[in-house]
Amino acid sequence: MCMQKDKVWLECNHRAFFRFEPCARLGHGCFGAGGDHDEVHVQDICADCKRKDPNPAAREAERVRREMELHARRAEEERVAQIKRLQIEARRRAEDAKRKQEEEALKLARRRERERRQLEKQVDNKAAKALESHKRKHEGGEEDEPKAKRQRGRVGGG
Ligand SMILES: [Zn+2]
Ligand SMILES: [Zn+2]
Repeated sequence: MCMQKDKVWLECNHRAFFRFEPCARLGHGCFGAGGDHDEVHVQDICADCKRKDPNPAAREAERVRREMELHARRAEEERVAQIKRLQIEARRRAEDAKRKQEEEALKLARRRERERRQLEKQVDNKAAKALESHKRKHEGGEEDEPKAKRQRGRVGGG
């Protein structure tokens, strides 16, 4: 659909035809721009208002003052946004550091627990081995009996 563009002077709110933008279908089913007009905004008063302006210098001074005000406001907004960004960044870094610290502490606790369990296992193994060797000695003692009998027999025979 075709579009009509209007110029709108924001400081006096006057509007005028700016240009017509035809579409590819104009004359082939499109009957031109509808009621919706695109707007081109101008931060100024229109030529008519300028002609009627009794004090152009005062208006220009006012325009410059507004522009400086706008720049100052934008700079202040940017400064506040910058501070906010820095604060967020600092908070994020502090949280990261805290989380890392907690992770390290947890890792250390887990390692200590693992080492403790290994130590317990080693102690258990030693105890089991000691018991085993004790049992073997005991069984060996039973085996020693015939030897003692043999020795006694030899003594008896000699
Ligand atoms: Zn059209
Ligand atoms: Zn005007």
